[in-house]
Amino acid sequence: MSAARQKLKSARRIVVKVGTSTLSYGEGKLNLYRIEHLIREMADLHNAGKEIIFVTSGAIAAGIGKMGLTKKPDTIPENQALAAIGQGVLMHIYEKFFGEYGQTMAQLLITKNTATDEHARENFHNSLTSILKMGVTPVINENDAVSTDEIKIGDNDNLSALVAGMSDADALIILTDIDGLYNGNPKTDKNARLISEVPKINSEIERMAGGAGTKLGTGGMFTKIQAAKLAAEKNIPMLIISGKEIGNLRRALNGEEIGTIFYKE
Ligand code: GLU
Repeated sequence: MSAARQKLKSARRIVVKVGTSTLSYGEGKLNLYRIEHLIREMADLHNAGKEIIFVTSGAIAAGIGKMGLTKKPDTIPENQALAAIGQGVLMHIYEKFFGEYGQTMAQLLITKNTATDEHARENFHNSLTSILKMGVTPVINENDAVSTDEIKIGDNDNLSALVAGMSDADALIILTDIDGLYNGNPKTDKNARLISEVPKINSEIERMAGGAGTKLGTGGMFTKIQAAKLAAEKNIPMLIISGKEIGNLRRALNGEEIGTIFYKE
């Protein structure tokens, strides 16, 4: 096993970011099957002595589903309203599943200020540390309802990397709708190959990351590469795996060579 995979395997405090494409169906309805299995996995990892920090997307998608819409509205205030509606819907479901496995969760909503303002950063660190000490799982999202351009991170890939840095995490794992980084487009190029390890992000890697995300999410591979860079600055390995297959989180933490791991050489 490579040193990076070894580091992942022995990671104790792990930020797990799950994207909208994993948490919902395309039209905004939540994928309860995946959510339940994911939370069960996180609860089990917690029982095994890991500290999981769950960064969740999906608030806007949940709001869309709740309001009977099928796509994101055009205006920012409407999206902010849907995030506020959907965040509650998500937490209600998460709370229920964590509760079923005998665990407690705590919601934290942050903005870019939380990472850039020294005072806010310290407050975040203190409350997060207390939450973890209590044996509770932090569940983090951006505070979309109050985020205007200046204080918005905008995508939860970058947000999860900032959280990993602020919480002294040992690893960051991003669950998404693709197995990892490919050297071509696997949908159109049958020779496209999954890259298992990326010790350095160069222009070649950035080119492979290409464009935007899905209809309801915001990220795509581009923001994941940005996140990997932020994580590498803090010497935190970052893994991208598919959130579609149940059990991938556990597999990755057992040292199976799935997904793409980014790390600092
Ligand atoms: N904060 C957004 C939400 O919960 C997600 C941003 C993203 O898709 O990265 O809907």
